[in-house]
Amino acid sequence: MSEHLTIKKRIYIESFNKLGRDVTFGVVVIDQNTCDGCGYCIKPCPAHSLEVVNKKARMVEELPFCISCGDCVAICPQHSIEIKEFIKFTKHFYYLDRGSAEPPRKF
Ligand code: SF4
Ligand code: SF4
Repeated sequence: MSEHLTIKKRIYIESFNKLGRDVTFGVVVIDQNTCDGCGYCIKPCPAHSLEVVNKKARMVEELPFCISCGDCVAICPQHSIEIKEFIKFTKHFYYLDRGSAEPPRKF
């Protein structure tokens, strides 16, 4: 884990690493030929999973817990982003106020 990470980010990573046993996070692919580095995709990402390096967007290495929300796909003016892998849950979970536990829906 990099030294430059803040304590808050370290706690996020440790929490998600534990969660990672039950969840496979999403993956987006970014077309490096069409991305112009505008950075619009960075802010809406709720998982802080994207960064721009050398004027090209990419998934961050330290916080790869994309939830496949598609916000980055929707906002990219160059249509450079595609969701390659959707988040997958390997255990049952509860919807609040919706009765008993259910297996996750398939995408
Ligand atoms: S919004 Fe699209 S063009 Fe802009 S940095 Fe992100 S991937 Fe690249
Ligand atoms: S799909 Fe959502 S969570 Fe995943 S990188 Fe894009 S904005 Fe972030």
